[in-house]
Amino acid sequence: MTQTKGKKPLIVMKFGGTSVGNAERMKSVAELVAGYAKEMEVVVVVSAMGGVTDILIRAANQAAKGDRENSKAVRQELARKHRAVADQLLNPAEQEKVLPQLATQLGDFENLCAGFSLVREVTPRAMDTLSSLGELMSATLEAGILRSLGIPAEAVDATELIVTDEQFGNATPIFAETEAKTRQRLAPMRKKGAIPVVTGFRGATREGLCTTLGRGGSDYSGTIIGAALDADEVWIWTDVDGVMSADPRLVPKARIIPEVSYREAIELSFFGAKVLHPKTILPVMKKKIPVWIKNSFNPSCPGTKIVPAPSDRTPGVKAITSVSNAELLTLSGKDSLSFPRLATRVFNGLHLEDVTTLMATQSSADNVLCFAIHSADLPKVRARLERTFELEMLHEYVGGIEVMSKIAIIVALGENMKGTAGLAGRAFSALGRKGINIIAIAQGSSELSISFAVKSTDVKEAVKAIHDEFQL
Ligand code: ADP
Ligand code: ASP
Ligand code: MG
Repeated sequence: MTQTKGKKPLIVMKFGGTSVGNAERMKSVAELVAGYAKEMEVVVVVSAMGGVTDILIRAANQAAKGDRENSKAVRQELARKHRAVADQLLNPAEQEKVLPQLATQLGDFENLCAGFSLVREVTPRAMDTLSSLGELMSATLEAGILRSLGIPAEAVDATELIVTDEQFGNATPIFAETEAKTRQRLAPMRKKGAIPVVTGFRGATREGLCTTLGRGGSDYSGTIIGAALDADEVWIWTDVDGVMSADPRLVPKARIIPEVSYREAIELSFFGAKVLHPKTILPVMKKKIPVWIKNSFNPSCPGTKIVPAPSDRTPGVKAITSVSNAELLTLSGKDSLSFPRLATRVFNGLHLEDVTTLMATQSSADNVLCFAIHSADLPKVRARLERTFELEMLHEYVGGIEVMSKIAIIVALGENMKGTAGLAGRAFSALGRKGINIIAIAQGSSELSISFAVKSTDVKEAVKAIHDEFQL
């Protein structure tokens, strides 16, 4: 770890939902933080207690259907869950301080739901305020637990630190402003040696309206805060020993990878490796801050270090990842509509809908463009393309939009795949031997990854076959 001489290293530690899933887990987190705080300066970022964000979102949608009673029951459920932690881990003075704060947060929950049921609607803006209440509750509790252990700590609402654009539900930070606010707001705490316990997932627009960074966004909060404070490292504590060679739920014998590069981590998370939010690495790239993935259930395991460039030069595939819910769309243009024009209009439509493609292939001789998107994006993409090509479809310059559903995209990746001959052939053969049909293939010129589209019913077997072939 690089650090300024004589100064304790500054580490931002983010704890995910399972790491703060119940009283026992929240106690372990506090003890872990207390231990590290002896030798380093720690800033904590916490997710909501496991499952809470889902509960909040479901309750909001139910309220928007006009159901007033459900939110009362959910309030009780949330109160029980958080109260159990307070009862077990907070000393009486802390209970006196924290319980009224939790009551206010639960009151906000019920009032917001009452509003949704009245207007029978939940806007993305209101949803952000509600869905990130879990982080407010967990940060309030975790700070109280630390103080009960005699460690000075203060809960901090990230709406006071992270300034974002107005893309509710999937906001992007405005970095310069975030840096200034974060430094300023945390400075007094850091000066007096109190550990800030910051809410993950949340941010706020310049006007102070609460936004969220997308599901799983607390990882992103961790690196945003890390970059803003020029931290020495960011540690993301989760429930697995590190980044693994495949999703352990698909490949039980997947192996921990000790080191991955920024590019590999970005690729892995973009293609569905849930262990990292897809934007996690972006904030730390410029400052080259290392990010560790560590297991809060097994803290003695070193975990995976995510570094700017790989030190290992072993050629070949490093990991396999997959997106199980994808759609493959095909559009074909007649001669009078050149391929570049067809592609421009398709991709412009995707851009306007803020949709990313998972893979794209062209066959320009007969003007065919094929691309994959997340299933959730299909309705808006279909509607947009039907509008974009309305006239061309009427005059049959463009054939209809063909959609192949229930597709999975499998990605084999590794920085050292570049220049290694025969990798694609081996992957094809491995799938062929299992009788798995490949529907589409893409490899970029950077050779960082090869993507295959297969039927989603084949995903588990396909990932395993490629994992075995490369002996990961
Ligand atoms: P947290 O609540 O700590 O943010 P997540 O559930 O979001 O944790 O992410 C951790 C999970 O990611 C693991 O339990 C694992 O099932 C899943 N996962 C998917 N792909 C991978 C991978 N390649 N390496 C490690 N974990 C993965
Ligand atoms: N609690 C949020 C979610 O469940 C953010 C996170 O856990 O990273 O999506
Ligand atoms: Mg997560």
